[in-house]
Amino acid sequence: MPDTILITGTNRGIGLALTGELLSKGHTVIATARNPASSKGLQELEVKYPEHLSVVKMDISSDASVKSAVAEIVAKFPAPDVLVNNAAVFPEEGDERFMEIDLAHFRTAFETNVIGVVRVMRAFLPLLAKSRNPRIVNISSGAGSVSDKDDSGYFAYSTSKAALNMVTRAAAAEYKPDGITIVALSPGWVKTDMGGPNALITPEESAASIARTIAGLTIKHTSHFLDRDGTEMKPGW
Ligand code: NDP
Repeated sequence: MPDTILITGTNRGIGLALTGELLSKGHTVIATARNPASSKGLQELEVKYPEHLSVVKMDISSDASVKSAVAEIVAKFPAPDVLVNNAAVFPEEGDERFMEIDLAHFRTAFETNVIGVVRVMRAFLPLLAKSRNPRIVNISSGAGSVSDKDDSGYFAYSTSKAALNMVTRAAAAEYKPDGITIVALSPGWVKTDMGGPNALITPEESAASIARTIAGLTIKHTSHFLDRDGTEMKPGW
């Protein structure tokens, strides 16, 4: 059954690849980005899938931008089935020591990776609630696993993703009685601007896996931290 799927941060990287993958499987995609006009990839998909792709400008760190996106989207899609919170930032170099890291990196990471996601979830939950199988997929990271942390890198990014995991679990508990499935999902180490050239898989490989997992999500998965193929992340949170 085709879904209507809203994705954030679709102008490049995993978000763009996931948009293409879902469209190729017959789904309708609402592809949001803070600067969609700059994305050749999105423009190509608009030409290829004019019936099934809607591109909407949305900066997840701005109340006004999210509000305006909701107004635009609700008119055409009153009951989207899936929200994929993909947009994120990695503000630091990654190898900064605890005593050296600029505290501004924490603010930047939390502003987008945590508060931005909460803002978007709150904005679209009333619409999702009208779907027959509403799902929210918060793209997290193995770096957000507290119990798996055994290096000292990525202080700001990894703490923001750990916080995102907690947002996921808390919201999942609140919305379980309403039948809204909310999960955190790790996309793997992916060759994007964020993942870098040494990463293990392409955005297309990650996207194909994520798309299959989204299709199989039900309320029994809610509050779980999943790998891209739908298996449980080990050793958990
Ligand atoms: P990229 O850096 O390649 O892309 C990030 C995307 O997020 C861009 O489209 C960017 O848009 C968008 N974005 C950032 N801030 C905002 C904002 N305020 N509003 C709207 N869009 C925004 O990252 P990836 O594609 O690699 O990452 C996608 C997701 O996967 C992220 O959540 C990331 O944390 C996660 N992840 C990635 C891994 C990897 O190996 N690549 C590993 C683990 C997790 P713009 O071009 O405008 O900046």
